[in-house]
Amino acid sequence: MRVLLIEDTHDVGEAICRRFQQTGHTVDWETDGAAASDILGFTEYDLVILDVMLPGMDGFSILKKLRQAKSGVPVLVLTARSEIDDRVTALDHGADDYLVKPFDFRELEARARVLVRRRSGGDATNLIVCGDISLDRANRNVMVGKREIQLKRREIALLEILASRPGKVFSKEELLDQLFGFDDAAGANAIELYIGRLRKKLDGARARIVTLRGSGYQLISDDGT
Ligand code: CA
Repeated sequence: MRVLLIEDTHDVGEAICRRFQQTGHTVDWETDGAAASDILGFTEYDLVILDVMLPGMDGFSILKKLRQAKSGVPVLVLTARSEIDDRVTALDHGADDYLVKPFDFRELEARARVLVRRRSGGDATNLIVCGDISLDRANRNVMVGKREIQLKRREIALLEILASRPGKVFSKEELLDQLFGFDDAAGANAIELYIGRLRKKLDGARARIVTLRGSGYQLISDDGT
């Protein structure tokens, strides 16, 4: 998933970035509220992690503006204080969830997964299945039938995108956006490379990645699931 993290406290921001990147997610990290709000106007994210007290523009104003623009992106607010007021304000402004600092990073990851899952069709589990391929979003492992296959983290992230909506055609640009953040200089040929590697590793599975010339890629199962 592609995450926008808006947090001005350096060590907190760095720790969140590291945790999410370790599991193959793409994180764009902004420390200024106004700059982050601008980015949200032209970039699609799967999740926004939002601090409240920020330079430039505060978290609640960012959230309000986002919801006024009819964006449905899941937002998880990090509140520094334990006062109930902040939590109520966050939810009233359209936050999907909140965490009170200091928090456990495992809890942040778990809640992030729930929000993304809820948005991608409301699955009740962390398991994505297509044909005999299953991907566990929490443990980041991939099975083909009963055999676990070894994938690099970006390969898992790519499979996660394709398998979350089997049959949907994803353009190279969409995949690039979701797999790489602003800081990674990757081109369309990087996608071809990852697709090639993933296809090789999924060889023999009852689902395959189909290339549609000029439009993109889709994951199709052999048994119509
Ligand atoms: Ca702050």
